[in-house]
Amino acid sequence: MKRPEEERPLSRLSTQVAQFDVSGKTLLLPRMNPFGSRLLAAAFRAFGVDARVMDTYKGLALGKEFTSGKECFPCQVTLGDVLHHLQGEKERLGAGFAAERYVYFLPEADGPCRFGMYNKYQRLILDRFPDLRAVPIAYLSTSNGYAAGILPASRARYFRRLAYVTVVIADVLERASWRVRPYEAVAGSTDALLEQAVQAMEKLIVEVGPSRDCRRLYRMLERYLAAAAGLLDPKRPRRPRIGLVGEIYLRTHPESNQNLARSIERFGGEVVIASVAEWFNYVTYDRLLRVRSRWRDLVRRPANRGLAPLLRDTIGVLAEHGYQSWRQAQVYRCALRCLDIARDHSVRSLETWLDHNRHFNFAIGTEAALSIGGALAYIHDDYDGIVNVFPFTCMPSTICAAILKPLLHRSQVPYLDASYDGTVQPNRDLALRTFIYQAQQHLEQRLNGGRRS
Ligand code: SF4
Repeated sequence: MKRPEEERPLSRLSTQVAQFDVSGKTLLLPRMNPFGSRLLAAAFRAFGVDARVMDTYKGLALGKEFTSGKECFPCQVTLGDVLHHLQGEKERLGAGFAAERYVYFLPEADGPCRFGMYNKYQRLILDRFPDLRAVPIAYLSTSNGYAAGILPASRARYFRRLAYVTVVIADVLERASWRVRPYEAVAGSTDALLEQAVQAMEKLIVEVGPSRDCRRLYRMLERYLAAAAGLLDPKRPRRPRIGLVGEIYLRTHPESNQNLARSIERFGGEVVIASVAEWFNYVTYDRLLRVRSRWRDLVRRPANRGLAPLLRDTIGVLAEHGYQSWRQAQVYRCALRCLDIARDHSVRSLETWLDHNRHFNFAIGTEAALSIGGALAYIHDDYDGIVNVFPFTCMPSTICAAILKPLLHRSQVPYLDASYDGTVQPNRDLALRTFIYQAQQHLEQRLNGGRRS
């Protein structure tokens, strides 16, 4: 790629990184989890937005070239994805390439993490290419619970709800793949079936989207999960179950984590990765906690002025929380009728695993709360090993590692930290094999009632 002009006007950080109506544009989504990003794009298309999931990891060299090396790895990967995609579009369309037709979608989170800065940082880099300056960046933010400020208000709420359902359906399909693939009678049959399922689901989401008739989505999900259950070879013994926690992008993006889930399967384990819905539930739960704390403040310092907005916010966040719990329970209920996938835990239950804040406190925020609570929930559910997956230097995951390692050592549960920055570590497979061996021993010991076999 040609080296860009050096020009970085800061004012564009607010005008060209914004929440605005993206209707009529081509919305470019970076790919995170393989199924989820595709179903989310389908949800956008159901609401009239031409959303496309970009190819991923092919532009990593570009992502690394235009960053300093101090950024979080997901920032480099997503930057590489968008540069690679737009470069491809320029080559494909030639003189017909019009940057203003595209919008790059890059959500953000508030709180102490660098994730809140990715989209501004990537704006600075896109602005260094004269022909990419006209590509605006649209974002959704945790600060307002991902209230979809990038669609007209009349459709935003319904889009958000459909998007949530697609996130849960994608989680369930991923869980089906981890449950069936290690035990499939015919190699490759699980991947082939689930690819069909995702393609069919994409079409159906576009068809039923605005009507939000989720029953049709559920019926299709059930059909595919029943078919997936039929692929299991009942003679294969159950493997040690490995729970994966950690930073959301790394744990769900197979290219960035060098296909960790499949490596674990190759070495003899069965994997369950913390769900993507967990993050959305956490964002809503966190808003609930903030509303509670505002009520406490109001009781301490009564003032009529704050009452009306607080009531409005309370009703809004309770409604969202109720909606998400209801939909998630519906999807899992219908999935579990066909296949015994791992259930998801509620965020409230994770908070209890933090042992009255002795291990960590939700008020500190970040994914560390989820990863620590999630790992302890896995242990309670008799998992045989925990892997903490994260980008090299990730702040919340480093906190998580510092807390989990001694805790799990005391509980004698195998534990592995797996950090990634795009380089290949020659000893990674060896560490993973050793870890799975320990997990296998843990399983045998558990089945023998605590005695070593
Ligand atoms: S969670 Fe980790 S990888 Fe993500 S922005 Fe924060 S520090 Fe970076």
